[in-house]
Amino acid sequence: MRIDDVKIVDPFFSVENGWVEFGEKITSYGKSDKRSDSPLILMPGFVDTHVHGGAGYDFMDKKIDFDKLEKHFFSTGVTSVLATTLTAPIERIHNAIDNVRKRIKANPLSPLKGVHLEGPVISKKHVGAQNPDFILKGNISNLKKIVDGNEDIVKIMTIALEESDDEAINYLQSKGITVSVGHSDATFEQFMHFYKGGVRHMTHFCNAMTPLHHREIGLVGAGLKLGDVDLEVICDGIHLDEEMLSLILKFHPHDRIIAITDAMRAAGLMDGEYDLGGLKVKVKDNSARLKDGSLAGSVLKYNEGLKRFHDLGLNLNEITVISSFEPSTIVKSENPIGRIMPGYDADFVVMDDNFSVLKVFKKGKIVFSQEGG
Ligand SMILES: [Zn+2]
Repeated sequence: MRIDDVKIVDPFFSVENGWVEFGEKITSYGKSDKRSDSPLILMPGFVDTHVHGGAGYDFMDKKIDFDKLEKHFFSTGVTSVLATTLTAPIERIHNAIDNVRKRIKANPLSPLKGVHLEGPVISKKHVGAQNPDFILKGNISNLKKIVDGNEDIVKIMTIALEESDDEAINYLQSKGITVSVGHSDATFEQFMHFYKGGVRHMTHFCNAMTPLHHREIGLVGAGLKLGDVDLEVICDGIHLDEEMLSLILKFHPHDRIIAITDAMRAAGLMDGEYDLGGLKVKVKDNSARLKDGSLAGSVLKYNEGLKRFHDLGLNLNEITVISSFEPSTIVKSENPIGRIMPGYDADFVVMDDNFSVLKVFKKGKIVFSQEGG
């Protein structure tokens, strides 16, 4: 197959009036002599490493219509997903992992690439919309119960470091799992202990973590200070104030930001009442909240979050870093993803300059087209 007349945007280069040839993988690309006034943009497919569901489904549900859920992801330009679990009894987490594994086997075009374990080792002080009844301590025996036998599919774990010990964190790292601090009450000093041990990732930066105080800069201070830490950022305009977003962009290297949605089941649906891990959530005006007003995930569409980053000043190449290239380092896909280069999976988004998704390709096949289908 071949796509002509597009502006190719890769993390490290752009091609005006470009073309791409591909089968399941990209075979070549180049620049054509033809000129087009407003070429569409072709970018690597987006990689959402923190998302709980959409189109009415949550990855913790016993039964999921994966066709519908995956269609929702594709419609937002997302071609790779880490299914994100919640704090729940271990057998329910295992059930979610098994569902994901089965789906990956059954559908070669599935965007599912593995699992992000969010909890159950979290701080009671920063529980967010997680269910406090099922919190566990971060010791090796608990972590082994969750992870052993699932190393193939667990890519990242969000964990309250101060509730964990070295042995437990070393165990996760030895399994190749990215350790991400989140839902955490860790002090700066506590974080630095694990940073020295290699922890370089923060879950939904600023949300559900120790804030910056001028005598204890906490996790927010650590994230702003340390340029080699990947920061997940929810860019729905609600989880983070626009001024905070611009502060992050001012202090943190743009190539160490990972755009996520943290979307829950109501993403892509109407306002109303929904369930999140047994807790009631009200969705209204693009925000999802518990009864007490706490944010309960987002209903953000990935492409709309990227438009916000663009409006804040990131150029298109920088956008592909936070949407595809950097998150692909967490996914550790067998086939390379996240760039427009020969040998990479032919996962593309074709969009206009307003970030409206027009067409999406997964492994060279059209999986979404704005004109229906
Ligand atoms: Zn989440």
